Order: sequence, then C-alpha cells, then structure tokens
Amino acid sequence: MKSYRKELYFTTRTRRAFLNITPQVEECLRESGIKEGLLLCNAMHITASVFINDDESGLHSDFEVFLEKLAPEKPYSQYAHNGYEDNADAHLKRTIMGREVVVAITNGRLDFGPWEQIFYGEFDGKRSKRVLVKIIGE
Ligand code: ZN
Repeated sequence: MKSYRKELYFTTRTRRAFLNITPQVEECLRESGIKEGLLLCNAMHITASVFINDDESGLHSDFEVFLEKLAPEKPYSQYAHNGYEDNADAHLKRTIMGREVVVAITNGRLDFGPWEQIFYGEFDGKRSKRVLVKIIGE
C-alpha cells in the first residue's frame, strides 16, 4: 500500500470565503501516483471547513446567508467564547460545514458524482491556514 501526505496553504483576503480547491487536490492525486484507494482532505484549523458541493455562486451566497442566520458574526458579545477572541461564529460555522471529506479514487481519478467539487470554507481568514491531503491505496 502506498501512502501520500501533503499540506496545502490558503490565505483569504476576507474573513469568510469559499475556495474551490479541487485542482490542487487533483494535483496531489497525480503526484501520489495512487490509482485505487481513498483520499482524505481536512481543514487543520477549527475555524475552517472542507466540504463538497456545487461550484455555483448563487449557492455560495445562500450558504453565507444560511450560516449568518444560524451563527451571526455580530454582535461579538453574544458569544461566551469571545473573551479574548472574536471568532466564536467561525467555530460554529465550521462545525456546520464540516471538517473533512473522503473521496474514492478509481482509475487514478477522484470518483465524483455529478457537480461534486471540493471546497475550502474559511470563516476566520486573512491569515495562512492549512489543509491536509492524505491518500492511501495502490
Ligand atoms: Zn476561537
């Protein structure tokens, strides 16, 4: 069995952003040489997510509205976590959107359903953060 590990780095200019990281993950898969197996991709920070969904700007705007309804950023004082920090909403949003995805690898490709793309969801950005890609198989 082969094993591959890589960290990807992302810095967003805004506090919140959704980045389609499918091309970078596919590059990792090519680099690994693995043709059959499983790929894990997870955010290494507790205020960011990795999730799979459609690359459609209307949907991304809907996610933003949905998450702001469930865990509004402001007022910061509404959260017990915000004593030394202002990112309680980011922790909550990350939990809703998830930490990681696992994708099957078949014939050297990500075995996606229609329209599936991998996204990095940033909820407390403007700093460098890491995503782990781990691939096992042969
Ligand atoms: Zn925090």
